[in-house]
Amino acid sequence: AKAAGRHTFRFYSEAQTRQADARLALEAALRRGLEKEEFLLYYQPQVDLRTASLEGVEALVRWSLPGGELVPPARFIPLAEETGLILPLGEWVLRQACRQMQQWVARGLPIRRVAVNLSSRQFRQADLLQRINAILAETGLAPRYLELEITESLLMDNSAQVDAKLEALEAMGIRLAIDDFGTGYSSLSYLKRFPLHTLKLDRSFIRDIADDPVSSNIVASIIELGQHLDMDILAEGVETDQQRGILLQNGCRTCQGYLFSHPLPAEELEARWLRAAAG
Ligand code: C2E
Ligand code: CA
Ligand code: CA
Ligand code: CA
Repeated sequence: AKAAGRHTFRFYSEAQTRQADARLALEAALRRGLEKEEFLLYYQPQVDLRTASLEGVEALVRWSLPGGELVPPARFIPLAEETGLILPLGEWVLRQACRQMQQWVARGLPIRRVAVNLSSRQFRQADLLQRINAILAETGLAPRYLELEITESLLMDNSAQVDAKLEALEAMGIRLAIDDFGTGYSSLSYLKRFPLHTLKLDRSFIRDIADDPVSSNIVASIIELGQHLDMDILAEGVETDQQRGILLQNGCRTCQGYLFSHPLPAEELEARWLRAAAG
C-alpha cells in the first residue's frame, strides 16, 4: 500500500511537472507572440433580426502561430489573464479594432459599431480611461462607434471605482454592453444602477429556447425587462431559424450567431457584409 501510495504520488508529481512546463512554455510563446504581433482579429456580425442588416461587429482575437495554426482564445485568454499578459494583449486588441473601425467609417461603409471585450483585469487598471482616450485619439475613431463588453462579475465588485469608471466611459460617449448575461451571479439591481446600453443574452439560454419552455420564458422575461430599462438586447449564439423566429416573436431586435455568420477576417467581412450596401 505504501509503495502504491508512493507510486501514485510520483505519478501526480510528474503529471503536475509536465503541466507546469506546458504552462511556462505557453506563457513564453504568448510573450513572443505579442512581441512579434502574431495576433489578429476576426469580426462577427451583429444583425438586425427584422431586416437582416448589419448593426455592428464583435472583435474576437485569434493567435496565428508561425506554422499557420490559428489558436482560439479559449486556449490562451485564461493564461493571459492569470499572467497579466492580457493587459498588453487587450490593449493591442482595442487599438487594432479601433483602427479597423475608423478605416471602415472613413470609407463610408455601412457599419455602426465595433464591440470589444474588456477583461476585468484591464478594467481595473488605474489609467484605463487615459489609455482608451489615447487609442481613440491615435486612431481618430469617434467614441460612439465603440462598445466595450464587460462581464457581470465586474459589476458585482460593488465598488465606487467601478461606478466612477462606467460613468466616465458613458460620459465619453462609449457604449457599454454586459456580456454573457445570465451566467454569473446575476443581480437585476445593477441593470438599473449602471449606464449599460446593451445586454447580451448568453448562448446557453438561446440554445434551449426551441425545446425548453422554461428557457424560452426566461428569455422572454429578460427581453421584456430590457425593453423597460431601455436597453438593447442582443441574443448570442443563434444557430437555427427556429431560434430566430422565437426571438423575433418576443421582440428581440439584434442577434449574433452562426445562423448569420461565423466570425470573419476583416477582408471577408467587407466582401460579404460591407460591400453590398455601400455607396
Ligand atoms: P464571447 O465574448 O462570449 O464571444 C462569443 C463567442 O461565441 C465567440 O467565440 C464566437 O465565435 C462564439 N459564437 C458566436 N456565435 C456562435 C454560435 O452561433 N454558436 C456557438 N456555439 N458559438 C458561437 P471565440 O471567438 O472562440 O471567443 C471565445 C471567448 O474568448 C469570448 O467569448 C471571449 O470571452 C474571449 N475573447 C475573445 N476575444 C477576446 C479579446 O479580445 N479579449 C478578451 N478579454 N477576451 C476575448
Ligand atoms: Ca463578448
Ligand atoms: Ca458572450
Ligand atoms: Ca448611473
